Amino acid sequence: MKSTDVLIVGGGASGIMAALSAAECNADVTIVEHNDMLGRKILSTGNGKCNFTNMKMGVEYYRGSNPAFVASALSSFSEKDTIEFFKKLGIYSKNKNGYMYPYSESAASVVTCLAEAVRAKGIHVYLNENISDIRVDNGFVVTLSKREICARRIIFATGLLAGRKCGCDGSAFQYIENFGHTFIDIVPALVHLKSEDSFLKSLAGNRAEIKLKLYENDNPVFEDRGEALFLENGLSGIVSFQASRFVSYALKKGSKVFVTLDFVPDLSLDDIRVLFESDNAYKSAKNALIGIVSEKIAECIVKRALINIDTLCADLRKKEIDKIIELLQGFKVNITGTRSFEDSQVAAGGVNTDEICPESMESKIVPGLYFAGELIDIDGMCGGYNLQWAWSSGYVAGKSAAKDD
Ligand SMILES: Cc1cc2nc3c(=O)[nH]c(=O)nc-3n(C[C@H](O)[C@H](O)[C@H](O)COP(=O)(O)OP(=O)(O)OC[C@H]3O[C@@H](n4cnc5c(N)ncnc54)[C@H](O)[C@@H]3O)c2cc1C
Repeated sequence: MKSTDVLIVGGGASGIMAALSAAECNADVTIVEHNDMLGRKILSTGNGKCNFTNMKMGVEYYRGSNPAFVASALSSFSEKDTIEFFKKLGIYSKNKNGYMYPYSESAASVVTCLAEAVRAKGIHVYLNENISDIRVDNGFVVTLSKREICARRIIFATGLLAGRKCGCDGSAFQYIENFGHTFIDIVPALVHLKSEDSFLKSLAGNRAEIKLKLYENDNPVFEDRGEALFLENGLSGIVSFQASRFVSYALKKGSKVFVTLDFVPDLSLDDIRVLFESDNAYKSAKNALIGIVSEKIAECIVKRALINIDTLCADLRKKEIDKIIELLQGFKVNITGTRSFEDSQVAAGGVNTDEICPESMESKIVPGLYFAGELIDIDGMCGGYNLQWAWSSGYVAGKSAAKDD
């Protein structure tokens, strides 16, 4: 039977980082990955450009039952460490408003350089391999389809269920639960919001910089500013993605969910009201708005206020102007769901952080068992935070698992 110091299940971002950091401490390291390559999901990140970290970093960019769990790992391996790590691999960074990409803007280059580093460190890699059993016997004995491996330590870095075509199918969950670990409900996050609102259809394909407020049973639970993309049957764009994990959990509880869209977050009531006053009396209600929102949005708002789009400002009643302003600043859209894990960039939920030591990523239940990456009940906001979590948690798990008893 082959034996290894550290066996890593899952060869994605966090698994590769765990392997490299364990190997750095002179451990014999093995990765088991059921895809035919390492790092498949990384290829799709940042629209193929790989937004691998963000210069604005901190606990506040993370969600989960206990977001503070990330603090220790982020300080052990920070965004600056990530940039330095990639620089050593020959990947220089490109800074786009704090969002960091490889200078080549190629996610494939990241995967190639990581895979080469794995090879150079002499890390054993078993691809196209599935686990069929894990038992504790003087370490861990892991049965694969073609071999058994005895490992002193084991790191689960299998991700959750997001981007299933990249290999995240939940097939390792049973082994983790067999060790006595529990999972916080897993839901899609960083994903499109679904809505049957008929007015959205008229805006499909349009983008706007908005402030979005999310309400659960009429209580505000989240707000953010950013770009929204209107779809035939929902909302996309960064601002909708950021809201999506809250939507997923609220709908799972059976709550009523809606968002309000402020199309003019920088304008005051007076700024808007003046557009309908005497200087503009000759304009149509729609054209009074086209200096502050796109023509499509102006038309949609006037129609939703039940006003004919050709009505002149001079003929608008105060009540009608109030309605237009209300819609500009708080266009309500009922949300019926999110798209599935297939389309989501991450999954929220995962292995309960109460059961993991944040300084080492070691299980508090089974000594020698570690976790890394998205598998843990932590999800980051859009902008490089999820990969940074994968690098930081992977680094800590690998280093801790490689330590001698
Ligand atoms: C389309 C898309 C775009 C994204 N863009 C960004 C971005 O620009 N910036 C950012 O920060 N984040 C982005 N993310 C999120 C980011 O990619 C993930 O959070 C990150 O890859 C998680 O790393 P991980 O190692 O935890 O899991 P993964 O990268 O998902 O790796 C898990 C690995 O485990 C393997 N595996 C699973 N089960 C088993 C098993 N039983 N046996 C063996 N192997 C197994 C899987 O095949 C997979 O290779 C994006 C995600 C997607 C889907």
